[in-house]
Amino acid sequence: MNINCTAELAEMRPLLRRFVTDQLEPLSRQIDATGVVAPQAMARLREQGYLGMRLSPEWGGGGLDLSTYCLVMEEVARSHRAYTLMLDTTSGLTPIAIERHGTDAQKRKYLAQLASGEWLASFALTEPDAGSDAAALSTRAVKVAGGWKIDGLKHYISAAHRAQVLMVLAVTDPALRARGGITAFLVDKGMPGMSVDRVDKTIGSDPIELGEVRFDACFVPDEAVLGQLGQGFAIAMGSLTSGRMGVSAACIGVADRLIELGVQYAKDRVTFGQPLSQRQSIQWMLADSATELAHARTMAYEVMRRLDAGEDVGSGPSMVKLFCSEMVGRVADRVVQIFGGSGLIRGVPVERFYRDVRHYRVGEGSSEIQRMMIARALFEA
Ligand SMILES: Cc1cc2nc3c(=O)[nH]c(=O)nc-3n(C[C@H](O)[C@H](O)[C@H](O)COP(=O)(O)OP(=O)(O)OC[C@H]3O[C@@H](n4cnc5c(N)ncnc54)[C@H](O)[C@@H]3O)c2cc1C
Repeated sequence: MNINCTAELAEMRPLLRRFVTDQLEPLSRQIDATGVVAPQAMARLREQGYLGMRLSPEWGGGGLDLSTYCLVMEEVARSHRAYTLMLDTTSGLTPIAIERHGTDAQKRKYLAQLASGEWLASFALTEPDAGSDAAALSTRAVKVAGGWKIDGLKHYISAAHRAQVLMVLAVTDPALRARGGITAFLVDKGMPGMSVDRVDKTIGSDPIELGEVRFDACFVPDEAVLGQLGQGFAIAMGSLTSGRMGVSAACIGVADRLIELGVQYAKDRVTFGQPLSQRQSIQWMLADSATELAHARTMAYEVMRRLDAGEDVGSGPSMVKLFCSEMVGRVADRVVQIFGGSGLIRGVPVERFYRDVRHYRVGEGSSEIQRMMIARALFEA
């Protein structure tokens, strides 16, 4: 069953698929062999206009809506998780927040560089004692002459060591905290007092790296405040809504590719004189996966379309993120099972997808936190 968001997106998909297969897939094999993303990957995404896609054309962006961004996310995710990070750091959480809430000077300073992929942006919310309970953050910004002095520690920040700018959430009024006492700051790489102390590797593929960022009396000028003073938490939560749709799209893309790989392997692999594809237990694993994927697509495309139309979707993004991230985990598990021993060998894509998709149930709000938000909406209704 072919489920697409809109007729225009259905038309875009084959071209996008060809680009990913011809231009990115060979580089994905290189990433797995070397652990490093070749600069051509960024260059190829830039040439196609896929970096900064959601930013205005005024800044060199594509001015595209969320549904189109998610289609590209879905298709690049079929090849490698590293490409989804490139889209996010040039057109995701922080770039979108700058476009929505930045001053003209901030937009001029950052957006063209982000849209071209010259610069990357990170989103620094999580701290050792503030993960799911993000409002519990303790990074503090205190007013001083001409600016702010930031002290605190952020961790698990995607690409922090590669980013030229970080959107940092800090407490500016401890009495108000998430109700008007948290502010977003744009902190440039190399500001005195800011350092990336450690870079953690994850269970996922090598290019997925998380930085620990320390702020030690780090001075930023008044112009570094993003949006209204005290509105940082709302700005961050606004970005996370579309971020969750991007994550969901990546889950859909990976599940689609995994099913394709599983079907092909089941046709090719012969045991006891017959291809695996003839075995009902194998067929059912793929049938369940395809059914769940269709469900994920239907739900995700509907919520994306309504977000693009400016409609209130309530806890829709949480439902989509919860379902898609758990769905791709089940699909990856089944497909690795179909591959048998070969699904566990490094260098085989299903093995890498299996490890990479584990992030999706934790990052940008874990499954438990999505359930909490869905339940909260039910009880508040
Ligand atoms: C790959 C990856 C990339 C990331 N990138 C970024 C980034 O760029 N920027 C950023 O700011 N952060 C980032 N993070 C951090 C991520 O957002 C946090 O890890 C996540 O929010 C969970 O926080 P925690 O790790 O502190 O877990 P905790 O909050 O300690 O939670 C531990 C477990 O308890 C559960 N739990 C917590 N509270 C409750 C509750 N009330 N009820 C039931 N269960 C609960 C959680 O779901 C989880 O299973 C990233 C994480 C990963 C894995």
